[in-house]
Amino acid sequence: MNKIIKLKVKSSYVKSIKAGVPLIKKEAIQNANLLGEEGALIELMDDKGAFLAKGYYGQQNKGIGWILSRQKDEQIDAHFFEKKVKKALEHRSFLFNDPETTAFRVFNGEGDGIGGVTIEYFDGYLLIQWYSEGIYQFKDVLIEALNKVVEYKGLYEKKRFDAQGTYMADDDFVIGERAPEPLLVKENGMNFAVYLNESAMVGIFLDQREVRKKIRDQYAEGKTVLNTFSYTGAFSVAAALGGAIKTTSVDVANRSKSKTIEQFSVNGIDFEAQDIIVEDVFNYFKYAGRKNLSFDLVILDPPSYARSKKHTFSAGKDYSDLLEKAIRITEKGGVIVASTNCSTFGMDKFKGFIVKAFQQANSKYQILEEFRLPADFKTIKEFKEGDYLKVVFLKKRS
Ligand code: SAH
Repeated sequence: MNKIIKLKVKSSYVKSIKAGVPLIKKEAIQNANLLGEEGALIELMDDKGAFLAKGYYGQQNKGIGWILSRQKDEQIDAHFFEKKVKKALEHRSFLFNDPETTAFRVFNGEGDGIGGVTIEYFDGYLLIQWYSEGIYQFKDVLIEALNKVVEYKGLYEKKRFDAQGTYMADDDFVIGERAPEPLLVKENGMNFAVYLNESAMVGIFLDQREVRKKIRDQYAEGKTVLNTFSYTGAFSVAAALGGAIKTTSVDVANRSKSKTIEQFSVNGIDFEAQDIIVEDVFNYFKYAGRKNLSFDLVILDPPSYARSKKHTFSAGKDYSDLLEKAIRITEKGGVIVASTNCSTFGMDKFKGFIVKAFQQANSKYQILEEFRLPADFKTIKEFKEGDYLKVVFLKKRS
């Protein structure tokens, strides 16, 4: 396969690499000037020249590549990719066997042994997301591996090569049959319309599957529900199907309205009985305060970073203030689903933001339950940033 570049790891980084950290950081390498073309295979050595690990070179915002093996004699070849893909698919067999769920992640980057690439399954179609030029060099080998171990109708890809992982607009269809638009998938019996070839995002975030089910099954019945940062309204759909009196979805993006109407419609829900509001959530909170609105269930799932005309929001800095605003429009005895996908802090720090928010709102709470990534978003303990999702169900007691 590709050419091998030998890189020396600075002594201060040897320990973490030996401990199993899969990401290769530029500052860890003594002779990073040797890096040639992305996609090259890398062999890492300690400062005495002893073998540490092998991987590939691919520039991402996170680092310059990923470790693929810690065995000197393991070849990074077609067989290697096939092994990893096969194991990953076996790990999701419970989902392939679930007739109520036809959309899930089948390969989760470093969690499945190959950082920089994820693969999702949408009712017979596969979507590969490439996070660097480097991993994209392995496209043919990875597709070969998929062809051997999984049956699918068609394959799509999203290139997220630039440093921020921003999507590059393209025709994303690769091989096989083109998917219908929309493609209807199921999740625990709920329907969702997805578009594999429209933009960076397909219409649903699969990592929230268990949270949607929980909201539908245990938290929605007879409740008024506010879904903020609602995107295509997937949480609103779950709540409406669970018997909510009414859902209110708020998102600043114009497209969110028609997308939310569509998600309600494919579930047989009368969208006209729901509120779908295109507005900045921060303005909506002010409006709700002025009108003395309050809700039984408030869902708060902001992006990690967002910039709108008036606000810059960063979960790491501003989550407490945002949650405080949500607390103020939640009924006493009501529930807040506080969620974040921010990878720069963990659950402990997130719980600290929650404590602070309730103090600021002069209110008391109880934690009802917590969710992390579902099993198909496989993570490894050596790479905490990969375990990004934190969802806490909070009861407002006073
Ligand atoms: N909770 C959603 C996913 C949220 S994605 C789900 O589970 O499907 C983040 C969304 O926040 C995007 O749709 C984006 O348009 C929206 N957004 C970002 N900043 C916003 C703001 N200030 N007010 C309202 N929506 C915002």
